[in-house]
Amino acid sequence: MLGALLRFRLICGLLLACLGWSSAWAEVPRATVSPGLSHLELSPYVDYHVDLDGAADAASMFDLAENGQFRPLPHGAATFGFRNGVHWLHARLYNDGNGEQRWLLLLEYSLLDNIDVYMRYPDGRIDHLASGDKLPFSARAIRYRQPNFWLDLPQSAEVELLVRVQTESSMQVPLAIYTFSAFAEMERDAQIGIGLYNGILLALFLYNFVLWLSLRDTSHFWYLGHLAGFGLVLFCLNGLAFEYLWPQSPWLANHAIPLAMCLSQLAMHQFTRVFLDLRTNWPIGDRLSRAFMCFYAAVGFYSLWSGYRLPVLLGTYSVFPGVMLVLVQSFRSIRHGYRPARMFLAAWTMMLLGAAMYASVSLGLLGKNFLTEFGIQIGSAVEMILLSYALAYRHSDQRGVTELQVREANEKLERSVSQRTSELSSALEQLAEANSRLRESSRRDVLTGLFNRRHFREMFEQMLVHAQETRQAVSLLLIDLDHFKKVNDSYGHLAGDECLRALARHLTKSLGAENALVARFGGEEFVVLLPGATETRALDVAERIRRDIGMAPVQFSSGKTTMTASIGVYSVPVGTSTTPDEVLHFADEALYSAKHAGRNRVCVAPVTS
Ligand code: GH3
Ligand code: MG
Ligand code: MG
Repeated sequence: MLGALLRFRLICGLLLACLGWSSAWAEVPRATVSPGLSHLELSPYVDYHVDLDGAADAASMFDLAENGQFRPLPHGAATFGFRNGVHWLHARLYNDGNGEQRWLLLLEYSLLDNIDVYMRYPDGRIDHLASGDKLPFSARAIRYRQPNFWLDLPQSAEVELLVRVQTESSMQVPLAIYTFSAFAEMERDAQIGIGLYNGILLALFLYNFVLWLSLRDTSHFWYLGHLAGFGLVLFCLNGLAFEYLWPQSPWLANHAIPLAMCLSQLAMHQFTRVFLDLRTNWPIGDRLSRAFMCFYAAVGFYSLWSGYRLPVLLGTYSVFPGVMLVLVQSFRSIRHGYRPARMFLAAWTMMLLGAAMYASVSLGLLGKNFLTEFGIQIGSAVEMILLSYALAYRHSDQRGVTELQVREANEKLERSVSQRTSELSSALEQLAEANSRLRESSRRDVLTGLFNRRHFREMFEQMLVHAQETRQAVSLLLIDLDHFKKVNDSYGHLAGDECLRALARHLTKSLGAENALVARFGGEEFVVLLPGATETRALDVAERIRRDIGMAPVQFSSGKTTMTASIGVYSVPVGTSTTPDEVLHFADEALYSAKHAGRNRVCVAPVTS
């Protein structure tokens, strides 16, 4: 709106000039330099003229100014925004007698391309000085981040100042003159502000760099990219990048800003994507961010070959929709319950305020004051601090979630381990049971259920040793059914089996009280060990067994039969050292004797000494 108004006034002025009417603008006052004055802002004393094709020379401009063809500054400030044409600024400076003679003219904007300063003295002499970032940094009067020129103001004389500015950057030409001591004092304050700001950024950068190295979290990396890009933009805007980073390279002085702008914005969108996990949480927002990133990559690439103005304009204008998008993305994440997004939102709001102020000055919408001039520094410093805090908050939030997950996983693991352990212990119990069954069955005879010969042999050995050690008597009975073959032959093998089982039952039952070891020795032969039994006792038991067998007929499906048995007895005399084989041998001999003597009887082997 304002721009349109100014253009309308310009067109009216040109029309009037074409019609031959001379229209003089109201004259601006001349600046008076009196004793005691150390610093003077020149804007109220400056009028200006735009030379659209840039062909005019200083002499013709001095003439034009003299004829009142220069106009006062819009709103009293030399802030024009992005404008075409060479701008000529004119002022008259009067040293009223005893005022300081040597002054420093400062142009308090660092990005102007070409600046020519002309001084016309009362004697008609014109001095010419040149500066701007199209010239090497060494061309400046003093080594300082903003263009500056030494002025000589003779006492009691008026000097005309004409400044020619041609630039692709925003046309901002705030002129001021300083005595050297005033300049030193002013600069001291500015340096502290700039140092403080860059110190904050550097500290944040290093802090997050170390965090990135240790955590390897990509969001830190993109935050660093954004911070570095943004810091570099401001370092360029202050004129410090030209002074300290590339004083010999006017090319970099002009191309670093669009490049750093694009880097900063590109990293900002990538940082947001990672921080808010947009790919999962909001795919549309994610695609919009990627579109912005492509745009910045293209503008950055284009700026390498193009002039300064278009990429910077694109970069500046797109900051607003870009940051608005980040705000919407943050807002949406907050609504979906993502707590770290709150700090994120606050940070970008500060950034937006700062950027809005900077861009408003750049575009000529607002004049320069403390807030508009340093708003971006203040806003961005707060933004960077809040973002760094948001990263730390997010990290601790994620760690909390991870710890919860780990705890839950641990509990689950413990539950399943205890379940598996109880399953395992019950399986072990079953296995032990099966083992003991197996062990037991390995000791038993399958048909009769009595101990088998192998187990008997083991037990016999132990009991014999024990009896010898304790000087106890021990007796052995070998029982063999008589003519058993006939039973098989007459009634069949199954009937024979049943007879063997019946005998086993009978032996178990009748020897229950004797603490005897009863086993099937093989075939139809059984063995009984009687610990503590003397020969007499053994003979009694054997006789009882023999009698009982003969008196108990065995019933089976194909009939019944009565069996008889012959029994050989051997008693080991107390205190005698003998072996199981010897004992078995003597018992067997006694059995043989019983058979030989006619069967169905008990024979005792003679005791050997
Ligand atoms: P003796 O009076 O001389 O002992 O005559 P015997 O027929 O009993 O003795 P012999 O040694 O001639 O025969 C033993 C028989 O026992 C032969 C065999 O068929 C039978 N026998 C051995 N083990 C079993 C078994 O497990 N089941 C059955 N049914 N018969 C068996
Ligand atoms: Mg027999
Ligand atoms: Mg036999």
